[in-house]
Amino acid sequence: MDKPSKSETDVLVVGAGPTGLVMAAELAARGVSGRIIDRAPVRSERSRALVVQARSLELLQKMGVADELVARGRRTIKATPFVESRPAANLEFGDIGVDDTPYPFLLFVSQAETERVLEKHLESLGAKVERPVELLSFEGDAEGVSARLRHGDGRQETARVRYLVGADGAHSTVRHTLGSPSRETPTPRTSCWPTQRSTGRERTTDCTSSYRARA
Ligand SMILES: Cc1cc2nc3c(=O)[nH]c(=O)nc-3n(C[C@H](O)[C@H](O)[C@H](O)COP(=O)(O)OP(=O)(O)OC[C@H]3O[C@@H](n4cnc5c(N)ncnc54)[C@H](O)[C@@H]3O)c2cc1C
Repeated sequence: MDKPSKSETDVLVVGAGPTGLVMAAELAARGVSGRIIDRAPVRSERSRALVVQARSLELLQKMGVADELVARGRRTIKATPFVESRPAANLEFGDIGVDDTPYPFLLFVSQAETERVLEKHLESLGAKVERPVELLSFEGDAEGVSARLRHGDGRQETARVRYLVGADGAHSTVRHTLGSPSRETPTPRTSCWPTQRSTGRERTTDCTSSYRARA
């Protein structure tokens, strides 16, 4: 194996999901030198998280991306939970009835869209997600962190950084290395695979049940 190459930067963000993308964009907006890596070769197109709350939209507004996200989502959906393969109810989600926010609704938007908008925003700030680059391990010392990375072509690199941000999701290498595994390991006890169908001009989302995380 080749000797790992060395690189230096201020912050290494591990994981380019919504958390990592927001962190990397906020660092870039403040002129902090940083890198963001993700081990996946391409951004996921799976829907996963479906709802963005008003407070999140308020924060995304400050970043200048809320309007684009709202334009890509829906403020109202109809959902039909199924119990034992039979429709149990017809639910409608829309206005949440508050007037102290510019976003008085639940925004239904696929996580894939959210990530697309955030990644575009990050690139507009001059930064780019490095893929596929995986964090293998890291060690901290008084001055910073040495992180061992593996690129898609097998090349390894030791990145020397002042700070390492673990935004690497539920099975986080960062948290496990630090000995603080997540208490919210995702356990889709029942699956929620929304299928969107067009009914004339109306689009509805069918959900067979809800996604839950273990507390
Ligand atoms: C099947 C599924 C369905 C879901 N449905 C819902 C839902 O209906 N509603 C809801 O609110 N939430 C849902 N979730 C949860 C939601 O997706 C998460 O809350 C959200 O993705 C968390 O964002 P994040 O940025 O913290 O982590 P993630 O989106 O998990 O991003 C972590 C990123 O880190 C990368 N990564 C991991 N390890 C490494 C490493 N060692 N080196 C480099 N990169 C690494 C991964 O490739 C990934 O891109 C679902 C999740 C799954 C898996």
